[in-house]
Amino acid sequence: MKITEIRLGMVRVPLKTPFKTALRTVDSVEDILVSIHTDTGHTGYGEAAPTAVITGDTQGAIVGAISTVIAPRLIGRDVADLNALCRLVQTALERNTSAKAAVEIALYDLFAQLHGAPLYRILGGGTPVLRTDITISVDATDTMVADAVAAVDAGFDALKIKIGQDLRLDLERIRAIHAAVDGRAQLRLDANQGWTPRQAVQAMRRLEAADIEPELLEQPVKARDLAGLKYVTKRVHVPVMADESVFGPLELIELIRMRAADIVNIKLMKSGGLSNAIRLADIAGLHGVTCMMGCMIETGISAAAAAHLAVAKADVISKIDLDGPSLCASNPVEGGVMFDGARIEIGDAPGLGITSVRDVMPIAG
Ligand code: MG
Repeated sequence: MKITEIRLGMVRVPLKTPFKTALRTVDSVEDILVSIHTDTGHTGYGEAAPTAVITGDTQGAIVGAISTVIAPRLIGRDVADLNALCRLVQTALERNTSAKAAVEIALYDLFAQLHGAPLYRILGGGTPVLRTDITISVDATDTMVADAVAAVDAGFDALKIKIGQDLRLDLERIRAIHAAVDGRAQLRLDANQGWTPRQAVQAMRRLEAADIEPELLEQPVKARDLAGLKYVTKRVHVPVMADESVFGPLELIELIRMRAADIVNIKLMKSGGLSNAIRLADIAGLHGVTCMMGCMIETGISAAAAAHLAVAKADVISKIDLDGPSLCASNPVEGGVMFDGARIEIGDAPGLGITSVRDVMPIAG
């Protein structure tokens, strides 16, 4: 199965409601679609989410990285050499993790198709069913409470609550949501780097005093402030999760060496795709660090790859935050993984199982 062509497009899907965090507000998915074509007629699909405030990747940068640097290295190569191809992708240029992720996802899709099995099975996974949480965007307290209650009523039993804008307001929001869902959902707090280390400790102590026990506190402090993250982890009972602080294996090794967090959020757009995400899960597993499988604002292409990986590494990845497809107003993907509210189910089709993607605007590569 030889690679003949790599095409790029843009997939644009409005979100049901704007996605708001301490870092950004987003109204629609505008991701770069990668399709890798082969001499056997098989097509592999991948997706890159331009999340400039986190990865530094923009649409233009993703297109440039793939079309001018990564794709020329892959044309004519055999999909059977997956590990060698991933190494070509990873060493093609520094950073650009979203571009690398999209290409790797399409390569793994093809590799699994070559072997005639769903990707999760090629990666050694068992039961292909997951339950995801859903994001509650940061907003006025009343709005967040209404969103949280609606999510719980819709069957979600874990809520990813976005905070980190204003400490006093954040505590008010958490208390109100906690009272409204009344033990019907786990609360995952994501401050998206919005607090100082001292504020984070103060916030968790206040919640503790109010008998509120969140399941975890995600990325309370600045991404580069590992010492600050450790300061928080050492002082609070709530497990602390690193997100923006950990992109790839080297950052995870440093985080573990410092004992700076209890949990790590793996995202394909940060790791540069599946090869490093597998390494992250394996390194975390060796050190007793649990993992969340997360995503950016993604449709069911790259989120499907994340779901396959989460099933394969279910022994280490015990928390799932793959709500991207549920946040979309429509689904551009034909076939693939079923994202139905809190429930995610992978079918039997080879690879990622995607047969086509609708509403794609071609981009000249
Ligand atoms: Mg996060």
